[in-house]
Amino acid sequence: MSFPHASVPATAPVASIDGAAPEAPVIVWFRNDLRLADNPALAFAASTGRSIIAVYIFDESTDGLRRLGGAAKWWLGCSLESLGRALAGIGAELTVFTGAAQTIIDALVKDLKPAAVVWNRRYEAGEQRQDAAIKSMLKAAGLDARSFNSHLLNEPWEVSSKAGSPMKVFTPYWRAARERGEPTPPMAAPVRLTGLALPASTHVQPVSIAGLGLKPTAPDWAKEMAERWTPGEAGARENLSLFLESSVKGYGENRNRPDRRSTSRLSPHLRFGEISPRQIWHAARSASEAGRAPGSSYDMEKFLTEIGWREFSYHLLHQFPGLASTNFQRRFDDFPWAGGQTHLEAWQKGKTGYPIVDAGMRELWRTGWMHNRVRMIVGSFLVKHLLIDWRKGEDWFWDTLVDADPASNAASWQWVAGSGADAAPYFRIFAPVLQGEKFDPNGDYVRTYVPELAKLPKAFIHKPWLAPHPELVRAGITLGRDYPHPIVVHEDARKRALAAFKNMSAEAAE
Ligand code: FAD
Repeated sequence: MSFPHASVPATAPVASIDGAAPEAPVIVWFRNDLRLADNPALAFAASTGRSIIAVYIFDESTDGLRRLGGAAKWWLGCSLESLGRALAGIGAELTVFTGAAQTIIDALVKDLKPAAVVWNRRYEAGEQRQDAAIKSMLKAAGLDARSFNSHLLNEPWEVSSKAGSPMKVFTPYWRAARERGEPTPPMAAPVRLTGLALPASTHVQPVSIAGLGLKPTAPDWAKEMAERWTPGEAGARENLSLFLESSVKGYGENRNRPDRRSTSRLSPHLRFGEISPRQIWHAARSASEAGRAPGSSYDMEKFLTEIGWREFSYHLLHQFPGLASTNFQRRFDDFPWAGGQTHLEAWQKGKTGYPIVDAGMRELWRTGWMHNRVRMIVGSFLVKHLLIDWRKGEDWFWDTLVDADPASNAASWQWVAGSGADAAPYFRIFAPVLQGEKFDPNGDYVRTYVPELAKLPKAFIHKPWLAPHPELVRAGITLGRDYPHPIVVHEDARKRALAAFKNMSAEAAE
């Protein structure tokens, strides 16, 4: 399936930069926008007709920036390699640094005297502080510094209620966002760039991508991730095409089925900006209008609404920068989290004794991703069945997800916990057995990720503790040895969670 591009070539020299020497280059600072197409900062730089220095800075030195987790680092390493190859293919070079971004940019501008430094915006509080500080530093030095929106359909501050205030509930938010009209069409990738290699006299030394040490070596725990994923712009396009050609059919219903390849798997590509939501939006629209997508209009709308949830998460992050660490509803501050380390570890390792929970946690560990329905089930289990603080779950996901996202992860965990803006009510407690039976009816998902249960018949795959002894023998399972007994009893855990919630509400009302 061909990918829609804007008809305006991004390389036509249209932008001029006042007062800069004609030979002065433009520095393009790549961050969460690791792509060539529909990249406004790169398109701007290309449109000046000047030579370009493409830079990536891996910054673990600046205070207040959240460090990437292990799985996201692996993805980043692969994605940078892919971007480097793509840039080389059109005449530029990706120059990589490690260290405090402000110090590195400062040194680069002093050495290179660029006409401008350009980048696409980021939204996490520490990132925004850093970007603002760098922009003021550049402006104070009389330099042209420009930022663009490449990550979202709407900037978080552009959508508001009729009264002009930020929004806390998804449905009106999305209505207001849609009323702003269709997103502008995506920009084409530059066809050719005039890349400039870093002069040897530059005071900051680049490093190789391998030198960043982003990929695990001993042991290489990312083998299965590498089989599952193709990080980079081409992999993103492929997943989008695959989705629009097939999985979109029935998405409205199937998106809840972890036993099927029912969703787009675009989340890590979006996380690192290998594809933009605008590209996805217009590709979906044009496939639909041309009758090329097999899904119904309901399926397509449902899919676009999920992109809306991502936008909404960024809207929440913008109005509440502490989203990943502070309860949106402050009455949860005194919640009596009672769960301990042993239960947390059982959850992390996929050894809770509840097959759907364990399958999800093991899918996460092995592939760096988990199906959305199962994320909700395991999240609810941690917070409600085990009474463990949602921040511990958010942290674990942050470390293990390839799509770990500062907005969507935090907003979703608060949604699951009930402490969020537009959250699931606390008393909605997912029953893991019923959820498993409903969304993985034949147990295929469990069999894939919990192979020790593979031989159990469908009737017991989601509740092995109820299987009669001969069934367990036939399936080769001794509970407590090959697979754990449930670490909590569902009904007791449910009552305990409801009582804790009731206590919190009573205290909050006092
Ligand atoms: P599709 O169903 O194909 O949806 C398309 C895109 O829409 C996704 O790629 C994603 O960008 C967006 N999207 C879909 N559902 C949501 C949602 N509920 N919230 C926000 N955006 C959504 N998503 C992340 O991208 N990063 C995270 O760190 C993250 N953490 C989560 C933690 C929990 C506890 C839960 C319940 C959900 C989390 N999600 C997160 C949301 C969602 O699970 C994933 O976006 C989705 O599973 C990705 O699969 P997909 O690309 O196939 O989605």
